Amino acid sequence: MSGETLHVYFLGTAGALPTPLRNPPCIMVRRGSDTLLFDCGEGAQQQMMRSRCGFTVNAVFITHWHADHFLGLFGLVQTMSFNGRTEPLTIYGPEWVHDFVTILRQVARYNLKFSLESVEMTEGSWVRFDGYTITAFFTRHGMPSLGYVLEEDPRPGRFNRDRAIELGVPPGPLFGRLQRGEVIRLGTGNESQEIHPDAVMGISRPGRKIVYTGDTKAVHMTIQEFAHDADLLIHDATYDESEAERGAEFFHATAAQAGEAAAVLNARVLALVHTSSRYPDARDHIADAKKKFSGSIIAPDDLDMTEIAFRDEV
Ligand SMILES: [Zn+2]
Ligand SMILES: [Zn+2]
Repeated sequence: MSGETLHVYFLGTAGALPTPLRNPPCIMVRRGSDTLLFDCGEGAQQQMMRSRCGFTVNAVFITHWHADHFLGLFGLVQTMSFNGRTEPLTIYGPEWVHDFVTILRQVARYNLKFSLESVEMTEGSWVRFDGYTITAFFTRHGMPSLGYVLEEDPRPGRFNRDRAIELGVPPGPLFGRLQRGEVIRLGTGNESQEIHPDAVMGISRPGRKIVYTGDTKAVHMTIQEFAHDADLLIHDATYDESEAERGAEFFHATAAQAGEAAAVLNARVLALVHTSSRYPDARDHIADAKKKFSGSIIAPDDLDMTEIAFRDEV
């Protein structure tokens, strides 16, 4: 069940300023045939071209209204129109999202061929998609700001084929019905017997979970309710330890704080992003995060892609 692929593309991993090798923030998540953008920094559409994923974006989630996180939408929307998009596109974001989308419509007034919708999110707001939910949580960035959780629905437990045969269920379509949670009936009349799916299915297993903090100072204690047990935690890691004070002043996290968050939140993999342009190589920060977190840590380059596996299949 739930064999949907789940890929995360790091289209933009820079901090506030782009560098020759890093674009402003943009994380693209592809689950099955769905494509979601989390933030959409300048140049996002070219990064999408480079990743060869097309422009069929289903929804956009913005963490906050600093320009490095949304400027890419202006160009992307024009290109979508140019390519003949007709389906509406919804932009989700913290307060001011309605004003932002009004501006976006105005800028695109002569070219917009589809409807742009806006939905304001706050802590605990959620959006249902087919097989998963996106939930917002508050972060601390000195302005209205949100992080997002993508969480898949739980998967059914494993099907115990031997037990089913033991109970007299013939291999074939009835197996599928039990796996889908249906009660089946074997035989007819007085001899008939009901088989409940519980008799042949193991306990349900968690789906996959991705957490993206956007820009924030250390918040792990307050986001625990939403951000625990992520398979991938994508965390602000703007500064190194020598700049911890600066980080707190400008509402950003250090790589070590990102590591601490990953440990407290019991993440499986931590991705350090939004690295300040003052540092030549974001990978230098992995050691800082490692002091706090013993799990796997990456400092992705732009266009890196990671596939998220199920915890019980790793
Ligand atoms: Zn930023
Ligand atoms: Zn910011």
